[in-house]
Amino acid sequence: MRVDKLLSHLGYGSRKDVKYLLKKGLFSVNGQTVKEGKVHVNPEEDELVLSGEPLHYRPYIYLMMNKPPGVLSATEDQSQSTVVDLLTDEDKLFEPFPVGRLDKDTTGLLLLTNDGKWAHSISSPKRKVEKTYQVQLAEPVTETMINALESGVILDDGYQTLPGKVVIPDADSSLHKVHLSIQEGKYHQVKRMFAAVGNHVRQLKRIEIGNVTLDPTLQQGEYRELSAEEIFLSG
Ligand code: URA
Repeated sequence: MRVDKLLSHLGYGSRKDVKYLLKKGLFSVNGQTVKEGKVHVNPEEDELVLSGEPLHYRPYIYLMMNKPPGVLSATEDQSQSTVVDLLTDEDKLFEPFPVGRLDKDTTGLLLLTNDGKWAHSISSPKRKVEKTYQVQLAEPVTETMINALESGVILDDGYQTLPGKVVIPDADSSLHKVHLSIQEGKYHQVKRMFAAVGNHVRQLKRIEIGNVTLDPTLQQGEYRELSAEEIFLSG
C-alpha cells in the first residue's frame, strides 16, 4: 500500500496534509526516513514510525449509520447517491460496504464494514441474526395479523417465512405502529409480510441487528464507529 494512502487511511489528514508530514521527514519505515508518498509499504510487516511513535495499522473498519431515506444501500451507483457517498474521504479509503440491504425508502440501522468475514457472520441466513424494524402501518394491526406474522406467512412468491415477533410499543394506542423482528432478509420482506396479512407498510425503520441497537443520538445520514462490544455482539 502507498504510504500517503496508508497515513490518510489512519486519520493523519488529507493526502495534502500527509505530503507535508512526509516532506518534514517525520515518517520512517524500518528505520529509514521516507519522504515520498508513492513509496509502498506492507503495514502488517514493516515497522512504521511517525514523529517517534510506532504506528499500529488497523485493517478493518466497522460503522453504524442511521440511513436516511432516498439513498441506496450500495457502494456506488451511476445516477443515485449511496450510503458510501455519506462517508468521509478517510473512511472511504477503507472501502467499506453495507452489510445487507435496506430499501431506498427504509431508514435506520445499517452496518458498514470492509471485513467480509464479519459481514457474512451477520448476514448469512444460516446464522439467523434477528433484525428488528419499527413499522408504520396504513391500517391498525389486528390480533389475526399478529398471530399470522408470529406463525410465519406465505409471501407473494409462495415463500413461507419463519415466525416473526411482534411488539406493540406502549405509547401507540392507535395500533398503527409495531415492532417486527425477523431472522431472515428476503427482498422487501417486511413489506411483503404485512401485505400477506392484508396491511400496508407506510414507513420502515430498522432499529436493531442482533444485540446492536441504533444509537438514538445519530441523526439520519450520520454514522459512528462501533465499539468493540458492538462488533462482538453483532458478529
Ligand atoms: N424489509 C423490507 O421490506 N424492506 C427493507 O428495507 C428491509 C426489510
